[in-house]
Amino acid sequence: MKFKLIYPKWPKLNRQTEFHLPPHGPVVFAGSLPDDVEVDFVDENLEPIDFNDPVDFVGISMMLTAQVKRGWEIADIYRKNGIRVIFGGISTMLHAEETLNHADAVFLGESEGKMEKVFSDFYHNRLEKVYDYMDDRPPTEMIGTARRDILKRDLYNYRGVQMVDLVHASRGCRFNCYPCAVSYLGGRQFRPRPIDKAIEEMAAIDNNRLFIVDNSLAQNTEWEMELFREMIPLKKKWCSHPIEDDPKVLDLAAQAGAWYVYQTIFDTSDYIRGRIRRYKDHGIAVEGSILLGLDTHTEDSIKRLIDFLLEIDLDMAEFTVLAPFPHTRAFEDLSRQNRILSRDWDDYTADRVVFLPKHMTPEKLQELFYYGWDAFYRDESQEFKMFKLLRQVTEREAADQTYRPRRRDLASRAFGREARQGFGD
Ligand code: SF4
Repeated sequence: MKFKLIYPKWPKLNRQTEFHLPPHGPVVFAGSLPDDVEVDFVDENLEPIDFNDPVDFVGISMMLTAQVKRGWEIADIYRKNGIRVIFGGISTMLHAEETLNHADAVFLGESEGKMEKVFSDFYHNRLEKVYDYMDDRPPTEMIGTARRDILKRDLYNYRGVQMVDLVHASRGCRFNCYPCAVSYLGGRQFRPRPIDKAIEEMAAIDNNRLFIVDNSLAQNTEWEMELFREMIPLKKKWCSHPIEDDPKVLDLAAQAGAWYVYQTIFDTSDYIRGRIRRYKDHGIAVEGSILLGLDTHTEDSIKRLIDFLLEIDLDMAEFTVLAPFPHTRAFEDLSRQNRILSRDWDDYTADRVVFLPKHMTPEKLQELFYYGWDAFYRDESQEFKMFKLLRQVTEREAADQTYRPRRRDLASRAFGREARQGFGD
């Protein structure tokens, strides 16, 4: 039984240095498949799909709204040739009704414990159109080790530097932030995995550098501290979404190998200034996620925000414009106010303005998006800032003797040399 699992391509953020992380959803999903299923994984961002390759069944895994139209196209090609196609993943849940028009089946929810039935239905020619398990989430004890063996690992590097491996220690989120669909997807419930299972999985990954992709680690102080305590002996270096702003927690995170965090920065308050400083005081670098186009934003406030990012010495910044993804509060508000300008999902790349901003024209917001990238990286390019982050981690690896000289390290030195040459450093 050959199952081709496809991750459709999507355009990367305009202005951002292009690199590709190994995807997480498909490898976690693959871990939940019955043992007799042979998985052939194709990440279309990095290799073309061979539509002539014989397969029994096709799965299309979609994480982003910007992937859905390409996912539908791929499914249409296979279905025309009589191959049945099932869709799953976050964006399938956000676009379930439209996806049904291109699918033999759509799977909604988390797959652990559910795939035996789906594949049995496939074998017996009785696939259901919709497998809706959104309100029937598996206990997190059932989450197994992700099938990273299906990845073609050599593809995931940037100029020879191996990318981080992705892993998760929890699901869900108890918050309900304005532009985010996680509460729709996960029911506003924080669901930690058993710490020993998450640690076992991290320990087994043949990569010293990880990205812990949990929505936010700042959900439960005791759990977070316990996780970090258990991570210390692994000596991994990792990035993550926010860590709780508490000196005890930050201290343990640093001991556990926290390398840098992605932190949303939405204003120029003293609180944010202090939050960034506290990360840095613990040796944790910060990449800001900067979302432009909120109703509180004016042209002046956005320019002030960008000055502020430089003042607080952020290590990196990723600028996006608000995209009202389905099943978010932003989508509900902007739809109700008739402010959505495009419902072409290919436009939902988070670098194109698809709605009418409150205090400026869409064109002005688009211009400010480019201004943000250009102003922030004017004195030091993205590549140079990336190189500085990389240097931080290699120095720490050398200090705790987890530095493993491999081909990738030679490549990273070459990358550093090139980056430095650009700046006379
Ligand atoms: S943005 Fe992050 S913290 Fe906020 S609801 Fe979404 S996942 Fe949770």
